[in-house]
Amino acid sequence: MRRRIVAGNWKMNTTFHEAMELVEGLKSVLTEEVVGETGVIITPPSLYLSDVVESLVDNAFIAVAAQNCHEEENGAYTGEVSAPMLASLDIDAIIIGHSERRQYFGETNEACNAKISQALNNELAAIYCVGETLEERQSGKFMEVILAQCIAGLEGFISEDMDNIILAYEPIWAIGTGETASPEQAQDVHAGIRGWLSERFDTETADNVTILYGGSCKPGNAPELFAKADIDGGLIGGASLNVADFTAIIEARTKA
Ligand code: PEP
Repeated sequence: MRRRIVAGNWKMNTTFHEAMELVEGLKSVLTEEVVGETGVIITPPSLYLSDVVESLVDNAFIAVAAQNCHEEENGAYTGEVSAPMLASLDIDAIIIGHSERRQYFGETNEACNAKISQALNNELAAIYCVGETLEERQSGKFMEVILAQCIAGLEGFISEDMDNIILAYEPIWAIGTGETASPEQAQDVHAGIRGWLSERFDTETADNVTILYGGSCKPGNAPELFAKADIDGGLIGGASLNVADFTAIIEARTKA
């Protein structure tokens, strides 16, 4: 079902103590009134997931996701974390194909496709990220790049699978740079992705897929972004590490 979602990606930030403080801070301010119909997801480093899930056991507002998983179920992959391991911690979702994983760890669309399968096979939702570089934006070929990521990443999945796959459009040139796609630029891409989804699956499926925007989304620009018809929420990096900023973005989603 298409949902309004604000997800925070903490990346490789916070010590254990800082992470738990952040969770406590969010628990204290995320009330029914702030959250409304908005689904809130936090994505701490995998090392802390178990403690974060435990501290949220009585909390109805905050879901927990991991930042990545391996494409295999288990095996000789020293240092890696598998989807079954993550599922055994009672988390809700996994971010897959973040541009930092693609850029610094050579993650391909095919690897992302296998990781999405891992998430779904283990009853976890997948938050699949797509987005273009600055060069691709400037060349005018960005939509081809984004749709190629959608085509290969979602290869083999059927309509019902899309109930558990959230898409996130994150222009790489806007991530952590302070540069945001304008609401119109973001809306155009979201509408393009939804149009592709309706051809690849059907209109009903396309209407039901949640598509998040990510890239320097802050309290100041969130209301305008969330006012757009095809922007269902945000994947938030830097601003999700600050309780007041993350809360303001959630409020913007709830009120839009
Ligand atoms: C992200 O990493 O997913 C992201 C959107 O980061 P930021 O909000 O810091 O640009």
